[in-house]
Amino acid sequence: MSELSTEDIVKKYGFRFSKGLGQNFLIDTSVLEDIVNSAEIDKEDLVVEIGPGVGNLTRELLKAAKMVCAIEVDVNLIPILKEELKEFTNLQLIHKDVLKMDFSQIINDESSVKIVANLPYYVTTPIIAKLLNDHYNFKTLTIMIQKEVGERIAAKPDCKEYGALSILVQYYCDVELIRRVGASSFIPRPKVDSIVIKLIKLSKPRVGVKDEKLFFKIVRCAFNMRRKTLWNALKVLKIPKEHMEETFNMAEIDPKRRGETLSVEEFGKLSDCIHEVSANL
Ligand code: SAM
Repeated sequence: MSELSTEDIVKKYGFRFSKGLGQNFLIDTSVLEDIVNSAEIDKEDLVVEIGPGVGNLTRELLKAAKMVCAIEVDVNLIPILKEELKEFTNLQLIHKDVLKMDFSQIINDESSVKIVANLPYYVTTPIIAKLLNDHYNFKTLTIMIQKEVGERIAAKPDCKEYGALSILVQYYCDVELIRRVGASSFIPRPKVDSIVIKLIKLSKPRVGVKDEKLFFKIVRCAFNMRRKTLWNALKVLKIPKEHMEETFNMAEIDPKRRGETLSVEEFGKLSDCIHEVSANL
């Protein structure tokens, strides 16, 4: 069966792009190759693809994986995908909004799941947060996202890109930047540049904290007011002054520092000390 290019499939079906659904389809086959190679897929793997579009990336994933489960929200793309990928018996196509998806139906403890996507940019942060916070058991997440978001995810302390998203991802994953992708690699051309990144889920979080909810609450407080010192930013926790002083002493962290200077490990230490001091209040 002939493999049509993305442009040819779009023309064949008279497909009309939806800006609202972040539909920028990849036309550069070298990028498709790099995504599939960096995801390191083999015949044992179940791959979950978010947003298959007209199936250009899906086709390459189907050739490499045991099974591909592709989740697409646009009803107009479903018949196109069914027709263009009909020779594959290892495709499960799900017509659904990924943000409403219960991944536990497809990701269970036994399977080796790799998630791959050229993500619609408007769902990047919510989907990463959902996959990590809901503790789904996937191995890797190889995604094309807006370049600036990729830089925020990989950022280290003391730079302006470092924030709550960097900590959320680095708490659960190692981050690899794979390659940059220019706007000319897509139809229609997006207004921003993109980057392919790979998140490799750690077998356990980078730091063991006593109370994960408290850890992320402290991170949020520290970055909600990122110009404030930790002392001022954490006042919202309403811990009496003398106990707060004790907490910073125990954690060996200067309260005059700003949250953006703390490593994931230091946030973990601070969170555990706040947990301990609060328990004795
Ligand atoms: N994978 C194709 C490619 O690389 O050319 C298409 C990528 S395009 C950037 C994003 C795809 O995600 C589109 O097919 C779009 O319809 C789909 N999409 C957008 N929002 C979605 C959602 N909430 N749930 C599932 N799919 C969504």
